[in-house]
Amino acid sequence: MGLGFTMCVRSCFQSSCLQWAWRTAFLKHIQRRHQGSHRWTHLGGSTYRAVIFDMGGVLIPSPGRVAAEWEVQNRIPSGTILKALMEGGENGPWMRFMRAEITAEGFLREFGRLCSEMSKTSVPVDSFFSLLTSERVAKQFPVMTEAITQIRAKGLQTAVLSNNFYLPNQKSFLPLDRKQFDVVVESCVEGICKPDPRIYKLCLERLGLQPSESIFLDDLGPNVKAAASLGIHTIKVNDPETAVKELEALLGFTLRLGVPNTQPVRKTMEIPKDSLKKYLKDLLGIQTTGPLELLQFDHGQSNPTYYISLANRDLVLRKKPPGTLLPSAHAIEREFSVVGTPFYVMEYCPGLIYKDPSLPGLEPSHRRAIYTAMNTVLCKIHSVDPQAVGLEDYGKQGAYIPRQVRTWVKQYRASETSTIPAMERLIEWLPLHLPHQQRTTLVHGDFRLDNLVFHPEKPEVLAVLDWELSTLGDPLIDVAYSCLAHYLPSSFPVLRGFNDCDLTQLGIPAAEEYFRMYCLQMGLPPTENWNFYMAFSFFRLAAILQGVYWRSLTGQASSAHAEQTGKLTEFVSNLAWDFAVKEGFRVFKEMPFKNPLTRSCHTWARSQSQWYPIGTRSYSSVPEASPAHASRGGLVISPESLSPPVRELYHRLKRFMEQHVYPAEPELQSHQASAARWSPSPLIEDLKEKAKAEGLWNLFLPLEADPEKKYGAGLTNVEYAHLCELMGTSLYAPEICNCSAPDTGNMELLVRYGTEAQKARWLMPLLEGKARSCFAMTEPQVASSDATNIEASIREEDSFYVINGHKWWITGILDPRCQLCVFMGKTDPHAPRHRQQSVLLVPMDTPGIKIIRPLTVYGLEDAPGGHGEVRFEHVHVPKENMVLGPGRGFEIAQGRLGPGRIHHCMRLIGFSERALALMKARVKSRVAFGKPLVEQGTVLADIAQSRVEIEQARLLVLRAAHVMDLAGNKAAALDIAMIKMVAPSMASRVIDRAIQAFGAAGLSSDYPLAQFFTWARALRFADGPDEVHRATVAKLELKHRI
Ligand SMILES: Cc1cc2nc3c(=O)[nH]c(=O)nc-3n(C[C@H](O)[C@H](O)[C@H](O)COP(=O)(O)OP(=O)(O)OC[C@H]3O[C@@H](n4cnc5c(N)ncnc54)[C@H](O)[C@@H]3O)c2cc1C
Repeated sequence: MGLGFTMCVRSCFQSSCLQWAWRTAFLKHIQRRHQGSHRWTHLGGSTYRAVIFDMGGVLIPSPGRVAAEWEVQNRIPSGTILKALMEGGENGPWMRFMRAEITAEGFLREFGRLCSEMSKTSVPVDSFFSLLTSERVAKQFPVMTEAITQIRAKGLQTAVLSNNFYLPNQKSFLPLDRKQFDVVVESCVEGICKPDPRIYKLCLERLGLQPSESIFLDDLGPNVKAAASLGIHTIKVNDPETAVKELEALLGFTLRLGVPNTQPVRKTMEIPKDSLKKYLKDLLGIQTTGPLELLQFDHGQSNPTYYISLANRDLVLRKKPPGTLLPSAHAIEREFSVVGTPFYVMEYCPGLIYKDPSLPGLEPSHRRAIYTAMNTVLCKIHSVDPQAVGLEDYGKQGAYIPRQVRTWVKQYRASETSTIPAMERLIEWLPLHLPHQQRTTLVHGDFRLDNLVFHPEKPEVLAVLDWELSTLGDPLIDVAYSCLAHYLPSSFPVLRGFNDCDLTQLGIPAAEEYFRMYCLQMGLPPTENWNFYMAFSFFRLAAILQGVYWRSLTGQASSAHAEQTGKLTEFVSNLAWDFAVKEGFRVFKEMPFKNPLTRSCHTWARSQSQWYPIGTRSYSSVPEASPAHASRGGLVISPESLSPPVRELYHRLKRFMEQHVYPAEPELQSHQASAARWSPSPLIEDLKEKAKAEGLWNLFLPLEADPEKKYGAGLTNVEYAHLCELMGTSLYAPEICNCSAPDTGNMELLVRYGTEAQKARWLMPLLEGKARSCFAMTEPQVASSDATNIEASIREEDSFYVINGHKWWITGILDPRCQLCVFMGKTDPHAPRHRQQSVLLVPMDTPGIKIIRPLTVYGLEDAPGGHGEVRFEHVHVPKENMVLGPGRGFEIAQGRLGPGRIHHCMRLIGFSERALALMKARVKSRVAFGKPLVEQGTVLADIAQSRVEIEQARLLVLRAAHVMDLAGNKAAALDIAMIKMVAPSMASRVIDRAIQAFGAAGLSSDYPLAQFFTWARALRFADGPDEVHRATVAKLELKHRI
């Protein structure tokens, strides 16, 4: 059982109508402190007679955890210590040390040598050993001390069964109070280590128990497994708090003492006890000479909260933090002379507070019941009639959301430390999307699971905490706010979430269901602009986090975590923006289409309706498009709706394609089939100069990556999509306009992550079209669709990195102009999976790069760039060629592949349009069985099918580009994966139909169809196979969609 505290809107010693309302609604079940009662979830009476504890990792911090921190501080490659501890298994130095077969000195010698060999640097293992055994680190977890006391109070035995060692002073290392245990078994004393079964048997023998009568806790799998195989009940400990909860469930009684979630008052948060005691004695009329006990709750980032015990009264005091405050936050107004800042005092309410919203240790049905109770209590709050309880003046009437938006924008601005793009977008977006209709009820303002005190034995809310933000307002704010945890990860430091958990398995209702439950209980229709409320709630959370951060910078944070939490503002603001984007699409989908039978669609960017004949790919705009839409620029789905300068650029490119590119295709094609094919075609070089002269050059770099248009044309992704599609109608145009893969991805990589020196050396020649480049990731020996498999090694050696590896399918590596290879390999195979890889810029003239052969795609070589198989043998690369730093490769590859993937898709739409155009011309001119092919029903059906599929895919491409523009590449992950799933197979089908309609000529090199087909098929692998994108879409669908 845990204990909590109640908090009402005003001091509970002040007579107030709200207090009455609140008490009638929620305080029916308040009980006095309630020790020893069972959790309503417990599994029943216990048959256990002893609990056996491992030491490191259970009672005190594990060596692994101490090592991880020490390694960071001493710049030792992460994982070195743990790996060296495990080295040699049973006969390694660590295990021999535990069995006292070697002394501490002997162990440290061997261990130091091992660590240095593994990390290729000298490792001061003495310093690690001193830290590990220091009093500062080797301290028993308070939660375990409490648990042991409770277990013994219930008459059960306790034991410690530890793999430990002798210190240099010949004493065994056991930094515990031995009196807590009936039995102590130490490996160094016995000469036997876990997981050897003999040591468990020894422990049981000394306890005088059968295996089934005891529970064993250890943090290491093999030790737990060995105990379980003897018939002992086991708990694998990942974190002591959770382990104690599991133990409670097995034992069936509470293991907590005193006031949970409290700690001694923090130094900076002390309050004068004497004046407080005098104040309370006067207020409550207490005659006592006894002490005032004061503890601080670890709850309450913004307003420090204290537990007070005075003469049998258990109270809670909540006050404003000291120092300068942001306007109108922390609305606590009371007599501040007593404790230095305004405060209020209230009664303490015992009960359970669930801090982890995933409710570990509970049955799924209980979790569901908890969330249902939470929903019910919210409905009760929202059903209070403010007038009936005298609260009609509790807040301003009406326009709650606009006021809230203004307030939180103001709060954010007052604590802003740097520009956060998503916050800026939201500040613009929120006022434009305010709900039209709002109800007004009592609003809690911070309604979350951990602000509720639950009955210890049943799923019932006893009290609701944290009313500082309560007022009269739109109740949907509370519903949305109570769903924040659904979208936050479990590792989120301030507000733990569960977006990485399987809700169905947990039994927790999804956000959508929770929301529906609320509407049903309240008798309301479901609200459609739910995403607005989520966007606003996350915006508000971001503003709060920024405030905490700001206070941490000015040294007033009421928590040591403040600085860390504030840095999360950006993360949360991106989440908020995701919802804004979803809401945008909902509005978009609901906008009326003028005439659904014509291929006419609206754009928000134009104010006037225009109609074009069918087939010219022109679209109208909705006449009644709101100024809001017009001002922020909507999804431009036709080239005719592009802004005038970009439209002009589009038409210039179109003319260039018609005048220069299509006519050059036969010559370029025959060059690719000639003996000179491995040298660049002079015609391409000539056309490149022409394109450059016409400003049709480097169009691909998105404005977002190059906001000052330093390197490129400064187009948005949507604008580029229209131009890229046009270039995609010819296989040669992308290179002619310096917009071809893999150079585009590599150039973007250099713009985003390159140092100035790297940019000067590599980016400039690439931008000028003088050099070409390749990207080397895929390896023949591993499944490279999972980039974490990549094995090529990047090893440090003096001032160089030395690379060794075998790569294949490296597009462009055979081109004599290829000067740069962007190489992906592993710098640290022991780091966490996504921190092992790094990206290195490898000059192609470095000795040791051996091209083995060009690979072919359905027999095509794709000269002069080709797709090469290549070995890298002891290739020495200067250290300054590392991009971003070791371990950042995965992050870079994700960034690089995002835009690249969508460029391919844009071009695939171009392939398809060209194929369909060629097919239409062909079937009109050929006659078979007495009539033109175009009059055959199947041909017509094929044409129709192709048109529909192209349109569908184009819309999805444009949507992905639009989301990238609005919310960034990361936020567009789902859209990018969707289009990557759709575009290559769509193009394959469309091109295949065109080939079929052409007859055998379609397969020849007289037309671009065969080459288009080959590329479309290859693009179902390149940039990741279809299945990987499908998996991404499914994962995101299951995780995020509400
Ligand atoms: C024309 C062309 C150009 C290329 N250019 C380059 C380049 O420039 N640089 C470079 O580094 N690489 C390049 N590649 C390689 C390409 O990126 C890889 O082929 C691709 O990532 C797949 O890796 P793999 O071939 O090792 O297939 P594997 O990883 O072995 O996968 C094989 C198959 O397993 C299945 N599969 C994989 N994952 C899943 C999953 N999660 N669920 C279900 N099924 C799954 C899929 O069917 C997949 O096709 C190119 C490839 C081609 C065809």
